[in-house]
Amino acid sequence: MKTISRRSFLQNMGAGIGATAIAATLPGATMHYPIRNNFTGKKLNIALCGLGRYAGILGDGFAFSQHCRLAGIVTGTSAKALAWKKQYNIPEKNIYDYQHFDEIVNNKEIDLVYVVLPNAMHKEYVIRAAKAGKHVISEKPLATSVKDAEEMIKACKDAGVQLAVGYRLHYEPFNMELKRLGQEKVFGPVRLIEASLGYKVDDNKEWRLHKAMSGGGPLMNLGIYCVQVSRYILGEEPVSVTAQFNPVTNKDIFNEVEASITWQLNFPSGAVCNSTSSYTSNIDRVYAAADNGFFELSPAISYGPFKGRSSKEEFNFSTTINQQAAQMDGIAQYILANKPLPLHICGEEGLKDNRIMAAIYESAETGRKVSLV
Ligand code: NAD
Repeated sequence: MKTISRRSFLQNMGAGIGATAIAATLPGATMHYPIRNNFTGKKLNIALCGLGRYAGILGDGFAFSQHCRLAGIVTGTSAKALAWKKQYNIPEKNIYDYQHFDEIVNNKEIDLVYVVLPNAMHKEYVIRAAKAGKHVISEKPLATSVKDAEEMIKACKDAGVQLAVGYRLHYEPFNMELKRLGQEKVFGPVRLIEASLGYKVDDNKEWRLHKAMSGGGPLMNLGIYCVQVSRYILGEEPVSVTAQFNPVTNKDIFNEVEASITWQLNFPSGAVCNSTSSYTSNIDRVYAAADNGFFELSPAISYGPFKGRSSKEEFNFSTTINQQAAQMDGIAQYILANKPLPLHICGEEGLKDNRIMAAIYESAETGRKVSLV
């Protein structure tokens, strides 16, 4: 299992200010329903729910955030509670275990719960947070099924709270350059995208290898980024998909989820995105071929540092950003202003990806092309 070294994480840190500027200029439609305004101060007070590896990276990200404060934690492990309390100066009254989590309803110092639990647990904790009147960010994938994603969105609507998905790349300048080059047709219409992400996972204790907790293999964990990147480069929604499971060499490990899967998404313009996500190979790249040139990133999706170029020039950005701070600040600015979140980071966006991933699995299982319209 790949671990993210502190060194590579630090290399990716930088000015949150640049990130804020990017977030503020993001285009996109917004959701419309009555939103509860429950923030208590100038900064958005966030409780992280689940203190695993990614929560650790988010925790460090608060130091670079302009608009968010790490105000609380939810954990089942008292040693972690103690360590986080010390490290981030979290008041005892803002620390919850999973049994007492619902008491957060009475805590005016928490505005938003950020659910960073294994995929299958997102649903329960998003709904419990919403019922407690807290805005919610769910890590990706939003849910392990379309039905669960729909229920989560409804619960948040019913409670009048906002639901975001932790799509950090919408705040990452290199990826937003791919989006600009594609959607503004800088090199003409994009016809072909190759987007793949894989890293090795071979520890059977890892929840990612157990379907009940993960909802699926590398597609749910990594392939979701490839689906996202094709949609934001093209600004289109796929109309159909064909997919294939790749041969499994280690059946002892990959007996619940796929080891590797390849799929082709077809878009209304005729563009095609070919992707593989894998737990057996290391790959992290996006390539877009347009009528009058190309653009590409590799690494493209991980925590960076990113490297990209087009047929005209190297991508040359002066700052790399802390992706986690940028994402949380981008979301916080809308919530603090009591404005609906842009569609491309809200629950509906996560639902779209859940639908596409369900179709990818259906196609791989049946061997047939699956329509998405
Ligand atoms: P992890 O295994 O490191 O952490 C999971 C946490 O959940 C642990 O603290 C664990 O104790 C807790 N937990 C509570 N109940 C559990 C149970 N029944 N089984 C297993 N764990 C339980 O996982 P992670 O890598 O931090 O991933 C958490 C979420 O964050 C996932 O949804 C993942 O997709 C997402 N994630 C997102 C990114 C990103 O870049 N946006 C990166 C990594 C992970």
